[in-house]
Amino acid sequence: MTGSPSCPVCRGNDLAPFVEVARAPVFCNVLLPSRSDALAAPVGSIVLSVCGDCSHVSNTEFDDTNLSYSPEYENSLHFSPTFQGFATTLADSLVSDYDIHSRQVVELGCGKGDFLEMLAAAGSNDAVGFDPSYDGAIDHYDGPGSVRVIRDTYQKAGRELRPAFVASRHVLEHLTDPGLLVSGLKQWAGANPVVYLEVPDADYMFAESAVWDVIYEHPSYFTGRSLARLCSNNGLVPFRIESVFGGQYLTVHARLNDGPTVESPPPVDPTSFGREFDRVLDRWADRLAAENAAGGNVVIWGAGSKGASFAAVVEGASETLSLAIDLNPRKNGRFMPISGIEVATPDDPRLADASLVLVMNPLYGVEIREELRSRDLRCSLEVVG
Ligand SMILES: [Zn+2]
Repeated sequence: MTGSPSCPVCRGNDLAPFVEVARAPVFCNVLLPSRSDALAAPVGSIVLSVCGDCSHVSNTEFDDTNLSYSPEYENSLHFSPTFQGFATTLADSLVSDYDIHSRQVVELGCGKGDFLEMLAAAGSNDAVGFDPSYDGAIDHYDGPGSVRVIRDTYQKAGRELRPAFVASRHVLEHLTDPGLLVSGLKQWAGANPVVYLEVPDADYMFAESAVWDVIYEHPSYFTGRSLARLCSNNGLVPFRIESVFGGQYLTVHARLNDGPTVESPPPVDPTSFGREFDRVLDRWADRLAAENAAGGNVVIWGAGSKGASFAAVVEGASETLSLAIDLNPRKNGRFMPISGIEVATPDDPRLADASLVLVMNPLYGVEIREELRSRDLRCSLEVVG
């Protein structure tokens, strides 16, 4: 990137760097078909900076010419019962809170369409998704309401819609200009939809030292303050901002027309997170080296972005981790970028050789302990994330 970077949310130039990663996988969520492909996967550099005005965090080294989302992009968390439960409860409560029944609902960046199906099912709604990386997997939805996905942008292909509700989950953090996604929503102002936006919560990442959440795919990290600013700068009136999913996700509920708004959350100072970032990486490098020296067999559980990030950026992890376990069968037999660690389902016999399982997301600890117990496996379990 050349020239002085500016904040993607408020356009301010008061950006202070606080985290640096020299070699991060460009795509944590694209697994490769062979170990050699994985070892040669593209890398990018990360410099996280915080905006002194709106507290937005961005990677000022991000180069979006590196990124092109395709059907290979696999970030569905819907194979986990914990996540599935969260998403179902969320869809049910949104439909009930805003009385969205037999209406049109829209999801921007709907991925494989799992949440879209839930929105349709919860209120017999006509659910329309937009996603350029959609691979056509939900042609057979036969629940109440209807579901269709359009492989195009909503600004171009959605003008004729009249949605009562618009959701976008885990999309804004992937965009270099997130305001573009939000400002285009005014085309639906006549329908007066409720808008629900969900992103990873940077405040949680700082508070919990969740260093594995720093990934190249995210040029943006939203704090409550910056998400509120994104809305108000682009024609949305936010009326509810809250953390969900154990604090990991930040959500805003907003309207396109006037109404009561929330007070802007206070500024955030992530400098201590910057110091902790390097310490956490060093601690895990030492821990893995010690396990390895003692003849241990370390497996990580979770081949999503946290797992891929851990394996790629902790020094020595690619040599000391023997396997990654993931419930998503689409990941089975594939390899994580840069580290080249193979991914398998819990049915893989090699899991029985593990002496230590590292849990990449604390919320899945109970679920994973149950999986191990049901297979009569007695390895130790440790939460990383
Ligand atoms: Zn800003």
